Amino acid sequence: MVYLIKDIITYLENLAPTAYQESYDNAGLIVGDAQAEVKGIICSLDVTEEVVQEAIEKKCNLIVAHHPIVFGGLKQLTGKNYVERTVIAAIKNDIAIYAIHTNLDAVSQGVNRKIAEKIGLLNPQILAPKKGIVTKLTTFIPKGEEDAVLNELFEAGAGNIGNYSNCSFKSEGTGSFLPKEAADPTIGEKGKLTSVEETRVELIFPSHLEHKIIQTLKNVHPYEEVAYYLQVLENKNQDVGSGMIGRLPEPLEGKDFLFYLKSSMNLKVLKHTAISNKKVEKIAVCGGAGVFLLNQAKRSGADVFITSDIKYHEFFDAENSILLTDIGHYESEIYTKELLKDILSRKFSNIATYLTNVITNPISYL
Ligand SMILES: [Zn+2]
Repeated sequence: MVYLIKDIITYLENLAPTAYQESYDNAGLIVGDAQAEVKGIICSLDVTEEVVQEAIEKKCNLIVAHHPIVFGGLKQLTGKNYVERTVIAAIKNDIAIYAIHTNLDAVSQGVNRKIAEKIGLLNPQILAPKKGIVTKLTTFIPKGEEDAVLNELFEAGAGNIGNYSNCSFKSEGTGSFLPKEAADPTIGEKGKLTSVEETRVELIFPSHLEHKIIQTLKNVHPYEEVAYYLQVLENKNQDVGSGMIGRLPEPLEGKDFLFYLKSSMNLKVLKHTAISNKKVEKIAVCGGAGVFLLNQAKRSGADVFITSDIKYHEFFDAENSILLTDIGHYESEIYTKELLKDILSRKFSNIATYLTNVITNPISYL
């Protein structure tokens, strides 16, 4: 079985749609030809010149990374810094670079789920679910044809709520219309006011699927002109958002938890605020720079918030009401490469997929 780079991209973006990336991000195919055949994949947190070199040695032509090598745009490509040199080396050697960044942070099976798993958190949930990414479709289908239409819409990705699929609501009523001269009505005649027993169908879908859902509706609906309404909902999507929160199997003393965290995440060092006498059980996590979620973590009743890139003054904001700990950006996200390798090798078992051996952390500890 031959796979093209675009097949890998389609699969990854089905799990973590690029529509979920933050506005400042640059996730997606950064270097390379999506039509090229995949010979081998390297999974990495970062892309550096060393990772490109490793790809050459391992005969891989695709690097799937969490952090985009090109973030703020490139104005020249002369090799004056590591970003340009990495991109040039990739292009010269026909190596594609794909980044799956804040979109992988945002999904419930992404970066933070992996951290929750490493710490052994039970029942991890999204800490700050995203709003405005669910749309409701209302449409009107002649009686007896509603299931055929609904099944196609479910197939296209509509009607999923949490652990339930095929969710919809139906109510019966009468639709009326008057076909104009140029019309070609399925039911009724030109120039005649027509009433039809119709079923009003309501169901939701992820907003980024709008084009696909509406195309599907138009293709399968029996009418020449399909009546429908779309409403972007205020509802939060519980499966998409920032950070995660879960419970330890049993409460631990703060200090014991921090030692446990060090060993389970393989940390050399961590920074933390004062440890109180209260045992800790509810743990919030956010890989990378996540201190913007501190208040959300407090509101959710977390005893500990684990993230990275916390500034001096931001530690004060913990106000001793939560144990805030900075475990390092690289350390918080390094297991993302394992997550990517697992996802890819499960689906594309005949493609050689490797974890990078390069330690891309630019920070050393003395
Ligand atoms: Zn990061």
